[in-house]
Amino acid sequence: MSPHRYLIKGATMPDGRICDLLIVAGLIQTISAKIEDTDAIVIKANGSVILPGLVDLHTHLRQPGREDAETVLSGSRAGAKGGFTALSAMANTSPVADNAGVVEQVFRLGQQAGLVDVFPIGAVTQGLEGVVLAEIGAMADSLARVRVFSDDGNCVFDPLVMRRGLEYIKKFDGVIAQHAQEPRLTVGSQMNEGEVSAILGLKGWPAIAEEAIIARDVLLVDHVKSRLHICHVTTAGGVEIIRWAKARGINVTAEVTPHHLLLTDDFARSYDPVFKVNPPLRTEKDVMALREGLSDGTIDIVATDHAPHSSESKECEWHEASFGMLALETALSIVQKTMIDSHLMNWTQVANCLSTAPARIAGYGDHGQPLQVGSIANITIVDPHASWSVDRDLSASKSRNTPFHGFELPGVVTYTFFKGVPTLFAGALVENDVS
Ligand SMILES: [Zn+2]
Repeated sequence: MSPHRYLIKGATMPDGRICDLLIVAGLIQTISAKIEDTDAIVIKANGSVILPGLVDLHTHLRQPGREDAETVLSGSRAGAKGGFTALSAMANTSPVADNAGVVEQVFRLGQQAGLVDVFPIGAVTQGLEGVVLAEIGAMADSLARVRVFSDDGNCVFDPLVMRRGLEYIKKFDGVIAQHAQEPRLTVGSQMNEGEVSAILGLKGWPAIAEEAIIARDVLLVDHVKSRLHICHVTTAGGVEIIRWAKARGINVTAEVTPHHLLLTDDFARSYDPVFKVNPPLRTEKDVMALREGLSDGTIDIVATDHAPHSSESKECEWHEASFGMLALETALSIVQKTMIDSHLMNWTQVANCLSTAPARIAGYGDHGQPLQVGSIANITIVDPHASWSVDRDLSASKSRNTPFHGFELPGVVTYTFFKGVPTLFAGALVENDVS
């Protein structure tokens, strides 16, 4: 815990109240209309919005294996810059995080970086191959205490394997995060199947390839009474199925990415692979259904699917390019633009979908706590009245594949506090000595 004292003056709480907050030794010690403290470092929030530190349930940190694209440290820096205090490292590394050794390695690298909590996600199946269950119990019992399991990048396509995985994780209240992609319907697919793919001559990726798996898995999870999370929902039909499942009391949660809340398949007309992503960008109708689903709680959370790729993997022909986009540093701005500035959500809902709800789904007890006395000071401050121009060359990530380069976005993250210590201070990253 930090011995430091920080006094945040004039912050707008998610519910609109203006408060001063005093942080002492890692905790929120006082919240009041006016606090004076001569020993504290004073931060003038001037009406900026204060949120519980953001929690990402879907981050690709690429370590071990592709340290040229990202490392746990560089991804943690990008997270801190974007206002995150917790990241969930997806299992599709090399080697795959399908055993206790790899998840403990990633967990330790996160602690060494010391900028956010890095919680490893374990693979559902060995090698992400979808055939034999991974060492789920050993990962759950490991130092990393894994509770979220996913073959993300791949779909757990075999219904019997999915059933066994869902049954296994019940022992410790785990959750399987499914990348919903029916493999046979998406062989060689390059972008959303529709008008634009037909014009461009790129192989289409039908909405039903996603919806068929979502439908199957909500029925399956209901049958075995386990817990299912749907990664990156992208289609209006997918939102409808989840709405139906929730109305029946089925134990399912779902996420949407910032890019699917803003971008459509029209961007593929540029043939710029920076817009190539899995699942693909969809249509305007889908984007509107996703926003509505997030607003009414059908979709529980926003998760970034931050997917860094080296320039060799992205600066090439569309067909050869890897799927994926950077997302950590732009996530909150995109949510403000699509949900706050369009009056579909308020800041209390944003605090919920970017912090409280993902922390609850994954069981990250130190995160997503309400901003109240005694809470661990994982905190983000964003100036919603400021805007910024996205410049990929200023990214803290090791990769440059943001689809938002050159976009003018609202909302500037100015401070991130991780356990009471600033990792971002007045917009500048702070490297803490955690040795
Ligand atoms: Zn995925």
